[in-house]
This record gives sequence, C-alpha cells and structure tokens, in this order.
Amino acid sequence: MNAFDQTLAKAERYLARFREATVTHVIDGRPDAGDGRTFETQSPVDNTAIAKVARGGAAEIDRAAKAAMKAFRTGWSTTPGERRRDILHKIADAIEARAEEIAFVECLDTGQPIRYMAKAALRGAENFRFYADRAPSAADGLSLPTETHLNYTIRQPIGPVGVITPWNTPFMLSTWKIAPALAAGCTVVHKPAEWSPLTATLLADICHEAGLPAGVLNTVHGFGEEAGKALTEHPDIKAIGFVGESATGSAIMQQGASTLKRVHFELGGKNPVVIFADADLDRALDACLFMIYSLNGERCTSSSRALVETSIYEEFARKAAERVKKIKVGHPLDPATEIGPLIHPRHVEKVLSYVKAAQSEGATIATGGGRAQGGQGNFVEPTLYIHARQSMKIAQEEIFGPVLTMIPFADEQEALAIANDVRYGLTGYVWTRDVGRAHRFAQALEAGMIWVNSENVRHLPTPFGGMKASGIGRDGGYYSFDFYMETKNIAIALDNHKIPKIGA
Ligand code: NAD
Repeated sequence: MNAFDQTLAKAERYLARFREATVTHVIDGRPDAGDGRTFETQSPVDNTAIAKVARGGAAEIDRAAKAAMKAFRTGWSTTPGERRRDILHKIADAIEARAEEIAFVECLDTGQPIRYMAKAALRGAENFRFYADRAPSAADGLSLPTETHLNYTIRQPIGPVGVITPWNTPFMLSTWKIAPALAAGCTVVHKPAEWSPLTATLLADICHEAGLPAGVLNTVHGFGEEAGKALTEHPDIKAIGFVGESATGSAIMQQGASTLKRVHFELGGKNPVVIFADADLDRALDACLFMIYSLNGERCTSSSRALVETSIYEEFARKAAERVKKIKVGHPLDPATEIGPLIHPRHVEKVLSYVKAAQSEGATIATGGGRAQGGQGNFVEPTLYIHARQSMKIAQEEIFGPVLTMIPFADEQEALAIANDVRYGLTGYVWTRDVGRAHRFAQALEAGMIWVNSENVRHLPTPFGGMKASGIGRDGGYYSFDFYMETKNIAIALDNHKIPKIGA
C-alpha cells in the first residue's frame, strides 16, 4: 500500500460511523433521529453518497429551541465565566486531539484540500481557546458616575441563539460563531449546511464529551428552507448568527422580522486586490493567487478581482497565467493537491456558467474555463480571465470558485472607482510602496477589512465583517459579545438628588 492508499484507508475508518448509521441531530445532549426523514451528503470527488443524514424541520427545531431555552434558564447563562472557560478549553483540547479526523472528514465532505483543512481544524481549536480566555470578562462593563447617581453597565447573554453556517469551510466557521456564543453564556441551536453536514456532528460530540451540559449546543440538520427557516422564526431564539449568501441574509431578515430577531450577517464578497506598479510585484502575485485559488476559491474573503496598473498589466497577467496553469488539481486528501473538487455539481454548473458570460462580454480566457480530471467528480480548472471590464458579470458577481478576473486601471482615482463599483464590501487588498497612497486608498475602499501588502492574515482580536451587501455586524475579540449579549445600564441614586413632586 502506498502512502496515499494508506491515507484513503484511514479516511474510510473515520467515515465508517457515518456510513454505517444515519447521522442524527443532537438535541438536549442526545442523538435524535427526528421523524425519520433523511437526505444524502455526497462526496465531491465522485458524487457518490457518503452518508444519510436526518432531515429536520419545524418539529426538531422546536425541540432544540426548547432544550436551548431550558439549558439557558437552568444554568448555562449563570454558570461562572471561569467554569465556562474551563469547559471551552477542554473542547479545544478535544478538537486538537481529533484534528486529523476532523480534517479528513471535512475534506471528503467538502472537497477542500487537506493542505488547508488540517490548519482549519486547528483554527477551530484556537477559536475555542480565544473565547475561553475571554469568558470570565464577558460580563464586564463600564462605571459612569455622576454627582447624583452611580451608573454602571454589565453585559448579559441575550438568550438561546441560532447559528446557521455555509458549506465552504464548515468546521472552522461553526467554531467561529459557536465559541463566542458559549463564552458569552448563550445556548445555541446550530443548523449546518446541507451540502457538508458531517463535521458539525463531530463538533457536537466533542463538546458533549468535553463536558458541555445537555441542551447548551443543539445541532439540527436539514435544508435551509425547512430547518433553517424554522430556526429563524422560532420565538425562543433571540438572535441569528448567519454566514452565507447575501440573498439568504435578506430572506432571514424577513423571516425573523415578526419575532424581532437580532441578526449578524457574514455574507458574500467580490473583493478587489489592487496592485500598483510600485509594489513588490513578486509578493503581490503570490498573495493574489493564494487568496483566490486556495480553498478552491470557495472563500468569502477571496481576492476575486485583480485590479492591476496598466503599465505592468500585461507582464503581471502573463506571469499569473503561467502560475495558474501549474496549479495542481486533485484528490482532496493528496497533500500535493492545491485545488480539490468543488462542493456540488450544481455549484460546478454555476462556476462554469461564467465562461460563456465572459466570452460574450469580450473578456479573454488566459487559462482554464473547463472541467478538470476528465470530468469525473466536481473538478474544474483554475481559471483566469484577463482584459476584463468592471461592467462585466465576471467582475460584478460572486463566482465562489477558483476564478480570477483581472482588470486594468490607469491611476489611483480609476482604481478606487473600479474597486468600489460592486454591491459587496467585505475585504480589500492594496499593494503599493507609497505609504500615503496606502493609507488614502485603504480609508476610501468600501470594505470592512483591508490588508496592505498582505494576504488575509487573521488576528482574532480584530473586527471581522463586511459593509454593503457583505454583512451586518462584526465578529472577533469583544465585538462578538456585542452581538451575543445585552448591555444593561444600572443607575443607583446617591440619595442627594431632588425628585420632582406631582400631586403634592
Ligand atoms: P447559503 O446562503 O446558500 O446557505 C448558508 C446556510 O443558510 C445553509 O446552512 C443553508 O441551509 C441556510 N439557508 C438557506 N436558506 C435559508 C433560509 N431561507 N432560512 C434560513 N437558513 C437558510 O450559502 P452557501 O452557498 O452555503 O455558502 C456560500 C456563501 O457564504 C457565499 O456567498 C460566501 O461568500 C458566504 N460566506 C461568507 C463568509 C463571511 O464571513 N462573510 C464566510 C463564508 C462564506
């Protein structure tokens, strides 16, 4: 058996539990098969079924929301922060101990390459550690004294919350939402994406094995229009933390309106990487290619539009095309693979539909544009469109695949106009050695997160989130607690102020 066959055999052992029995919901700390309805999750490698998964609806969501409310009221919200910290650290320990299993299952359920997923599993553990350490200070507030009153604020968990996650890097994103909620003292009902449900079940198991009390984290599988919708409408659920498409965000806002849901949205992007002629062009090229072709291009913060100054455009495009042609497409568990199969045949259709649009609108396909690996599975070629204009569909719409659109610009003013001419505003990347321009440009870019002379390097205390159609609210650091908690002001009189008298 060669090394890759051994890896596949190991992956099969990790998958065995999912293949053998229906993947259930986890409600009130126990496996819950629901009403017996199921759906299949498929391997992006060959579209064969990996597992049958329980298909939840309003009834399962109701049970999960009631369990979350009971756990909130009977303990978790008043459990001392130090105790919550210790449990969250134990969860992080358990994630680290099972990092390989999580990574392998994630690769096979999503098609993401192991070279990135191994780190994503560990980042999930880091998310838990980061918020574990902040749990004891989650309730902290301000003292705001006046001559007559001592005002002080405290933060209190908002209640049971719903977390709805997408399929692109499901484990990491789930931990990113769930860890701060638990640290804040909220209880959670999680609805994972139907195209990649498996690692959410691993997370629920890990949390319970690590000592999280029953009902604090409940996982209900199912479709967005059924389980997801029911979650956003449930009166016991006080807030929805959502990561997914902008259109789904709008739907959730409407669905949650009658129960006045607080919402936090991390949505789509069409992020520019702006490369000026004075930049370190080798580093800019590395970062630009990494940010669009890693994670299969199924990444909200991807640099999907490269805006390149005219004087260096042809040379930069030539070098980019040479590199993109060499990107290795392959099996997600092969350590050499740089791009794995996309999540689902429907997503392949969407990504490839832009080829016709690009051609009819007059862009040039420098490389790619078709299926890879002989058409078996959801493999597509990394694609580079050059000589594009900002008005084209490939420059306006989120493709969410390994596809880069390269657009020339003449000067700073034009670069800014192009960069901001999209409905999205998640991230922006600027490459220049001119310090003044770097600041000017970063401040004028309409996006929630800007990196100058860098790819996306995440620092957990910093705010994460988007403007415009890319989101509402910020995660990261204490910003997450602003969402998961209520800030309460308490005013204590010093008994020296005059109380107005009426009827005296
Ligand atoms: P999606 O919006 O189709 O689905 C996301 C989740 O929402 C799934 O669990 C789905 O079942 C659920 N859902 C769908 N309809 C629903 C409804 N009516 N009510 C409640 N829930 C519903 O998104 P996707 O295709 O799974 O993920 C890709 C999208 O996610 C891209 O647009 C990407 O940019 C975005 N994303 C954003 C970030 C970020 O941080 N901004 C991170 C990752 C992904």
